[in-house]
Amino acid sequence: MCGSLLSGGLEREELDSGPWYAGIEAGGSKWRVGVGRSPAVIADDTITTTNPDSTISACVEAIRGMGVPIDGAGIASFGPLDLNPTSHTYGFIKTTPKPGWSNTDVKGRIERELGIPAAIEIDVGGAALGEAWWGAGRGLDSFVYVTVGTGIGAALLRSGRTSHEHGHPEMGHISVERETEDAFAGVCPFHRSCLEGMAAGPAIRARWGVPSTELNDRAEVWDLEARYLAQGLATYAYTLVPQRIIVGGGIMQQPGLLELVRKRLAERINGYGPAPPDVESFVVPPELGQDAGLIGAIALALDRFETTTVRPP
Ligand code: ZN
Repeated sequence: MCGSLLSGGLEREELDSGPWYAGIEAGGSKWRVGVGRSPAVIADDTITTTNPDSTISACVEAIRGMGVPIDGAGIASFGPLDLNPTSHTYGFIKTTPKPGWSNTDVKGRIERELGIPAAIEIDVGGAALGEAWWGAGRGLDSFVYVTVGTGIGAALLRSGRTSHEHGHPEMGHISVERETEDAFAGVCPFHRSCLEGMAAGPAIRARWGVPSTELNDRAEVWDLEARYLAQGLATYAYTLVPQRIIVGGGIMQQPGLLELVRKRLAERINGYGPAPPDVESFVVPPELGQDAGLIGAIALALDRFETTTVRPP
């Protein structure tokens, strides 16, 4: 293990106060890597995603360069991932449209090159873990974390764990019914008009002809968006019965959209079923913001490898 000090960082006795863990947010356009054992990451770096060899090597070099002895790594990766522990390709990125990345052994390569054990989760599952430990999911037994951006992904956290044994859910690809005035065909390459195909960023751009950032003042755009998202959230509420739904991602930065989603969800549920009547506390924004993936990856490592620290309430 490298024993050098962080530049301007920790003193020797602080390094000894570990164990420390690496967090790796493996995204389709960039990787963020950091070391820590809490949301206060002590060192972090960002790498542009290129091909698997270069990206993983740069990630390993960045972590080594931080000079902190680490006991394990958490990886929150873009997918689809093989998360079936009995599979011989467990921890691999499966077939993906992203050139060169299909069948990449992300978990195994990180473990071999850093010489430490690694845990892997789908990106949205990692972010959900971060929210469970240190964000809007604190103290809850069950919640759904949804991200609405270039895609739509969601994870169910139950009793502090992402809820899957044979693979991660694909909750962005559920069916939705077409809103009456909407003639848009949808853009999902697999299902056309699934939730992601109708309501993620590329769908908004294709339907209206301009990026979502140029549609800020178009009320009809965001009301339609809110109705599709409310369809998705109603399905999650009815099938998973979470105590809360946390909704984040780039599209949710649109001012007023969260309030519209709450309104349309309340209308759709119409007082029926297990969702709490207080939609304001049922549908909330995330608390960890842009750092959710990295912090969630560190939470994942703590969850899997830490034996001395009690999990935060
Ligand atoms: Zn789809």
